[in-house]
Amino acid sequence: MDYISTRGQDGPLGYEEALLSGLARDGGLYLPVTYPAFTHDEIAAMAGMSYAEIAGRIMARFTDGEIDEAEMTAMAADAYAGFTDPEVAPLKPLSGDIHVLELFHGPTIAFKDYAMQFLSRAFDRALRSAGRQAVILGATSGDTGSAALEAFQGRDAVDIFILFPDGRVSPVQQRQMTSVDAPGAHAVAVGGDFDDCQAIVKSLFNDHAFRDKVNLSAVNSINWARLMPQIVYYFTAALALGAPDRSVAFSVPTGNFGNVFAGYVASRMGLPIERLIVASNRNDILTRFFEQGAMQRETVTPSLSPSMDIQVSSNFERLLFELLDRDGARVAKIMKDFAETGRFELPAAAMQAARGLFSAYRLDDEGTVAEIAASTGEGMTLDPHSAVGVSAARRAIADGTVAAGVPVVALACAHPAKFQDAVTKATGTEPPLPPHLADLMQRPEKMQTAAANPDAVREMVLTMRRPA
Ligand SMILES: *Cc1c(COP(=O)(O)O)cnc(C)c1O
Repeated sequence: MDYISTRGQDGPLGYEEALLSGLARDGGLYLPVTYPAFTHDEIAAMAGMSYAEIAGRIMARFTDGEIDEAEMTAMAADAYAGFTDPEVAPLKPLSGDIHVLELFHGPTIAFKDYAMQFLSRAFDRALRSAGRQAVILGATSGDTGSAALEAFQGRDAVDIFILFPDGRVSPVQQRQMTSVDAPGAHAVAVGGDFDDCQAIVKSLFNDHAFRDKVNLSAVNSINWARLMPQIVYYFTAALALGAPDRSVAFSVPTGNFGNVFAGYVASRMGLPIERLIVASNRNDILTRFFEQGAMQRETVTPSLSPSMDIQVSSNFERLLFELLDRDGARVAKIMKDFAETGRFELPAAAMQAARGLFSAYRLDDEGTVAEIAASTGEGMTLDPHSAVGVSAARRAIADGTVAAGVPVVALACAHPAKFQDAVTKATGTEPPLPPHLADLMQRPEKMQTAAANPDAVREMVLTMRRPA
């Protein structure tokens, strides 16, 4: 399978090259030249297969000629072997037509594990076959960093440095990062906020001499290989509800538009998806876009669902490319205008196509607390991000956006214990950590500290990375 850039000036290139590059050289994001499609019978044949087997079958279509299905299935089985639920991504009924897809059974109890555990193995394989060593540098507001450090520890070809804003991640998130005790894995507390961390990462990626010297790589959600494993659970959930003989809708709590774009790809691959519900918190740029047909940047306001406190959704560029009939030059122009003016509009035909599949809802903090209380009353305690998605699912059913009788799968993106404060506020009870993390807050911490400037971090990487 070949990959091309959403801005039309890079590629085609192979899967492992796209994986190791992350971001395309023209500033765009990689997508496969076509979406491999499954027939009705091919989807039906997946019923009864294990999670790893379905993962292998789906992902191998995107690595054609480089990784075959047997090897892909083995990689997936290894990636998900440590998950605490044998089904990997179990589906639980909530009420009426709503079902909750639990994506928090990985080591760091947020859905980032489903992609990151695969990605670390994918990097390892690609670097080994190229005989290379790499440095991964990333900034995190919490979930991505913990999932990445956990997944990349012990991978000899990679040294990983994750910058987080000192004192501004939740205690559970911080301990998940700092309790990783492995050579080559470094949690770095930066004296600044998340934007400072991101600015340092950006600045070091733009330092081409440094970038080439250490073979710098990124694992944020612009990497195609992070989206690929997320397609899998759309298939397993729909199969559990009777697909391909029955259509299913999904409600997805959204920040960077990565998870919900994986749902779009599943639909392009032939999975009968009736509707994709985009669920935002008060930072509702995507909801406003689907309502008004214009993307208009505002400032970010902190909310109870911090992993969705985002205004510019980097993965949206992939949908934009599709809505504009894969016209990379037009995407490049729109993204340039957006960077300058903070606004772009789409033609009516493109919006009509978008609304044919997507609907969008928003939920403020008050509503989030109310939803956590309501679903707890129905026997299931949700984390604040998952609550935003479940509330959107309820409203999409109530207003007829999803027809009666069509099951709606709401993605539960984190375990309630990862966001204890909000959940305790809503329910009056502190949600306990799952058994494998019960002693987390007692584990010793290992971390570096750095001033909020690129020079300090560059120096740290150069001295601490392991020789090739
Ligand atoms: C990352 C994250 C999200 C947002 O996912 P995107 O793919 O960026 O849209 C939502 N909820 C939780 C708990 C997350 O960690």
